[in-house]
Amino acid sequence: MPTMGALHEGHLSLIQLSRQKTDISVVSIFVNPTQFGDKEDFEKYPVTMENDIQLLEQHKVDLLFAPTVDEVYPADYQTKTYDLGHLETILEGRFRPGHFQGVCQVLDRLATIIQPNFIIMGQKDYQQIKVVQKMIELTGKDIALIAGPTLREPSGLAKSSRNTRLTQKEKQQAPILYQAMNSIKDQLTEAVDLEKLCQKAADLVLTHGFHKYDYFSICQRDDLTRLKDYKSGTALIILAAAYIGNVRLIDNIIV
Ligand code: AMP
Repeated sequence: MPTMGALHEGHLSLIQLSRQKTDISVVSIFVNPTQFGDKEDFEKYPVTMENDIQLLEQHKVDLLFAPTVDEVYPADYQTKTYDLGHLETILEGRFRPGHFQGVCQVLDRLATIIQPNFIIMGQKDYQQIKVVQKMIELTGKDIALIAGPTLREPSGLAKSSRNTRLTQKEKQQAPILYQAMNSIKDQLTEAVDLEKLCQKAADLVLTHGFHKYDYFSICQRDDLTRLKDYKSGTALIILAAAYIGNVRLIDNIIV
């Protein structure tokens, strides 16, 4: 189970899943520099290693792998690029150029070092799951991906390490992101204009504490292509990314 540390209950729920599915659970903690375009976001990423180790011990994780940057990317590491197709030009791929290449690099390296049978990831990072699946196919690794559901605060706010950077006021306002995605879901009909629906959701967060958004999007769940017309019964996912204070939050709900 790859993580960047600052562990919270979302991570712990994945550990529980891992303990059900496997006989040895390995957690990695590594804040991967190659997946951050924004240097400041990388430098401000919370590090709580002592607390993380305690949580991993309490949850009976067998191994922690907490490498240095040089261990993951040794001097002779040849930077690989992965053909991720349209995933690299839409949604997170569009707004965080290079991010998914970095995600593939680190997961490729971690999987090469650890040699796991499974990689366990959270649905919170649904796009990342799709990208890692692609990396596994491209590299021919024999690894099954397991996705666990998104754990939320009672307010609906998805648990995230970045939430620790929210002020108390921002933390009270941030659940509007989840509410906005649900308002899209609740108003989906075959007659509705999907663009307008997404715009309304964006306006809702912008009037409730968020100051910028990258996207609100209704996509096909399998390949993440943007939906033009809604047909009842289609497997969908609603995805959003928006800024509150100096924190960028992403979330999604499956419909
Ligand atoms: P991160 O440390 O943010 O890179 O996350 C490590 C793993 O935990 C990723 O697979 C995430 O999708 C997953 N994760 C993060 N937040 C949550 C959450 N709220 N619920 C479930 N899984 C999560």
